[in-house]
Amino acid sequence: MHHYEPRMALLVVDVQNDFADPKGSLFVKGGAAVARRASEEARAAAAAGALVVYTQDWHPASTPHFAKDGGIWPVHCVAGTWGADFHPDLEVLGPAVRKGSNGEDGYSGFTMRDPVSGETIATELEGLLRERGITKVVVCGLATDYCVNATALDARRLGFETEVLEDAIAAVDLQAGDGARAIEAMEDAGCDFGGRIRRAGQRSDEASRA
Ligand SMILES: [Zn+2]
Repeated sequence: MHHYEPRMALLVVDVQNDFADPKGSLFVKGGAAVARRASEEARAAAAAGALVVYTQDWHPASTPHFAKDGGIWPVHCVAGTWGADFHPDLEVLGPAVRKGSNGEDGYSGFTMRDPVSGETIATELEGLLRERGITKVVVCGLATDYCVNATALDARRLGFETEVLEDAIAAVDLQAGDGARAIEAMEDAGCDFGGRIRRAGQRSDEASRA
């Protein structure tokens, strides 16, 4: 279990039926285990006075995000359907931030992208963290190579100290190795994976900036 403090937030990314349940349209292997691990972390975070925020992919029935409408993904997480609901093993102890409601691509919990104009639109997540003076986020959920990756990279870009719980994430691995490459990208961006130091250069950069 991670150690939590009130200046921290646990970000539980997209632990929804379509990703976490074997009957889901974009099932990620290991998704149900992630739901249970995320719940343990959520209980610990809430008990320590940290904020727990949940993100939900929340799409209209048609969006350029879906293959049938010219995108790349099978239909998933359509607003108000079973697939968009949180997995039943996920304990929900805080606010939910929904992304993609207006047809945007919503990989990051912090930002969405208009698939037509390419414009980046902020969600309410950063505001939720800033208004509570939160400086560090701990990220878990689905999937390592998409929404976890995008959320963690945005958190770093926005200046949050960012840790990723490697045993509470799982990858789609559309191409073999996608999950591992996403972890490398997150490490390169300065995300901490439980104190594991793989990138000595990155660490000294961090130290010299401090
Ligand atoms: Zn989606």
